Amino acid sequence: VWTTGPPHNPNQLSVDLPPADNRTTRANAGFVVLVRNSELVQMIQSMYDVEQRFNKNFDYPWLFLNEEPFTEEFKERTTAITNGKTHYGFVDESMWSYPSWINQTLAAERRELMSGVPYGTSESYRHMCRFQSGFFWRHPLFLELNWEYYWRVEPNVRYYCDIDYDPFLYMKQNNKKYGFTISFVENAGTDPSLWHVVRDYVSATAEGKRVYFNRPVKDTLYRFITDHTGENYNQCHFWTNFEIARSDLWRTDAYQTFFGYLDVKGGFFYERWGDAPVHSIFAALYLHKDEFHYFHDIGYRHSVYEHCPKSETLASRCYCDPAKTLDYSDGMSCLTRYMDALMDSNLDKSITVAE
Ligand code: GDP
Ligand code: MN
Repeated sequence: VWTTGPPHNPNQLSVDLPPADNRTTRANAGFVVLVRNSELVQMIQSMYDVEQRFNKNFDYPWLFLNEEPFTEEFKERTTAITNGKTHYGFVDESMWSYPSWINQTLAAERRELMSGVPYGTSESYRHMCRFQSGFFWRHPLFLELNWEYYWRVEPNVRYYCDIDYDPFLYMKQNNKKYGFTISFVENAGTDPSLWHVVRDYVSATAEGKRVYFNRPVKDTLYRFITDHTGENYNQCHFWTNFEIARSDLWRTDAYQTFFGYLDVKGGFFYERWGDAPVHSIFAALYLHKDEFHYFHDIGYRHSVYEHCPKSETLASRCYCDPAKTLDYSDGMSCLTRYMDALMDSNLDKSITVAE
């Protein structure tokens, strides 16, 4: 489709993409959605876009998860709109409740103080973020389906462009582990102690005093999230409402230990740590930078922000306005930083974490 690769992206598409009408080769993959019954109409809208723009030619399956049982109406209507298989999973309290070590009175007090932060006072949002950080990838149904890759979808998102190749196969053929469309600056009020905890974790798991954030992999993307001193988190993260990733990324010992360490510190409840910073910080510290992929060609909207390809060759396949794209023009976007972290090999310096 592209011979020279799109502009702005050093991570060019250089492989032979499977043809659009190829209905035989498939990745072992599917869509995963955490959603409430009350979001049915918005869910149908998201599915309509995904199906029309991509999945009608591929028929990948869908997995819906919810901490309440799905209604018959929800199941019927979401099944009717796709030719892919649909699966519905219940999230029980082993994955959606307070761990024993959390002081729920304290958590409630902290929520009261956070009315100035997005979702700061919401209890359910915190369970959601904790679930998306630490549990969806080990939900019994997700394990049973055994997908090598997943694509996260949310209700009420838009997909603007025809996708005539298979992003899962692209990931597989290019050894990619984490794919995104939008990178963003988190509200620092959600995670005042997160970076401190991350640094503690990195120190605790490193053998010496001298800690390299590039360990155990060299050439990580750590400069996406911090400067060369490693002192502060700059709040950059990839939006997880669109996320195409390898399921086993989160099943590694490294991530499970990382999540467990964070969970014990209580910041999912005492603060309002988002799953996006948690995923992104881990990926930026533990993956090789070549294992990321920016899906610049996928026009996508979530809430009031959108990514729309600027490339003229893509314009005919998209119905978004490239002038409105977040990428390099909006201060909330972290794309420039991502590109800098990706391209500047001089950024790989050691970081000393004070004892
Ligand atoms: P935002 O994207 O950060 O504004 O948060 P959303 O409200 O979109 O929530 C993120 C995802 O989690 C969406 O797919 C929601 O449908 C889902 N979600 C959020 N809260 C709940 C909840 O309490 N129960 C369920 N089942 N899904 C939820
Ligand atoms: Mn959302």
